[in-house]
Amino acid sequence: MITAIDWGKVERKKPLAPFSTLHAGGSAESFIIARTPDELAALAIASQKEGWDMTILGSGSNILPSDDGVFGLVVVYQAQSITVDPNGMVHADCGSLFQNLFLKTAQAGLQGLQFAVGIPGSVGGALVSNAGAYRSEVSSFLVEIEVVYNGERKWVPPSFLEFSYRDSLLRRPNPPKCAMLRLRMKLERGRAKDVFDEARDYQRQRISKQPPSASAGSFFKNVNDLNFAQSLDFLPDRFKASGVVPAGYLIEQAGLCGLRHGGAMVSRLHANFLVNVAGATATDIRSLAELVKRKVKATFGVTLEEEVLYLGDWSAFEPRLNRPLGS
Ligand SMILES: Cc1cc2nc3c(=O)[nH]c(=O)nc-3n(C[C@H](O)[C@H](O)[C@H](O)COP(=O)(O)OP(=O)(O)OC[C@H]3O[C@@H](n4cnc5c(N)ncnc54)[C@H](O)[C@@H]3O)c2cc1C
Repeated sequence: MITAIDWGKVERKKPLAPFSTLHAGGSAESFIIARTPDELAALAIASQKEGWDMTILGSGSNILPSDDGVFGLVVVYQAQSITVDPNGMVHADCGSLFQNLFLKTAQAGLQGLQFAVGIPGSVGGALVSNAGAYRSEVSSFLVEIEVVYNGERKWVPPSFLEFSYRDSLLRRPNPPKCAMLRLRMKLERGRAKDVFDEARDYQRQRISKQPPSASAGSFFKNVNDLNFAQSLDFLPDRFKASGVVPAGYLIEQAGLCGLRHGGAMVSRLHANFLVNVAGATATDIRSLAELVKRKVKATFGVTLEEEVLYLGDWSAFEPRLNRPLGS
């Protein structure tokens, strides 16, 4: 397996901003593109067995790399194969675009992934954050995932990833090293016209609600708290009933729309989008996110949790985590 790695293709000090939809951040210490599951597996097995740092990226639509860069090897996974069996079983490389997975399955007469339209990430990135929209999420359709874990390549059930709302095992603090290579999912048959009509409707809603500037989508997770939801006069009834408080409502009601820090801004169109409007550095964006969290906490008493994942060294923002005990 290790022979599949072409070390000659590893680049040094590769800027990561072009690989992040926020268009910000420093460089990868080393960088390579993996174009097949075997290539990613070989890298993951080597890194896990030999103990060196490796970060896998899909489309970079849910990450913010530090301006100081990302240590170790960054692998962009671009394996793209998707096949659909007549019985509704779908096999896909985790480097495939989530939107292509929707298109191929819809064209094959299957339904379920309409919500993926407009989510600009890879299937692997979608699994890590249990990507979802319009009351659906990717984990609902999974049958099994092929991973490299503890240096071993194997198929695991969905329970292995401990999915919950926009969360999985791989988002926890100090997550286990795990590369996701391929997946199998099962979808139901659907009427093509209904499937495409629903997808078009979701796409229209996104176009009207989402800012066109560089972003990572919703920066913060929504807050799930029935009592809190019911205490908020400004919240529409449907959210009060479900106990879901969209982070965007809290940011908007705290008066933060249009707030800027350097080249980063809280979007006026969708308050949960932090947008890069003028060459923002990753530090600008993180500083703005911290400001938003502080103001929302001061106004409503809740701490927003990031949906976006910070990569690399952020010790300037997390001093207590990095300072020796007692200092
Ligand atoms: C305009 C816009 C709209 C969006 N709308 C939505 C939405 O409606 N719903 C939603 O849930 N999200 C949304 N997002 C966020 C994002 O697109 C999703 O989270 C997406 O699934 C991330 O995929 P990615 O390939 O870009 O992941 P990346 O950002 O590349 O990576 C995210 C994380 O996954 C890890 N990772 C990626 N691939 C692998 C792999 N193969 N194996 C192991 N780890 C891996 C990375 O290391 C990183 O920790 C939106 C983003 C944008 C910019």
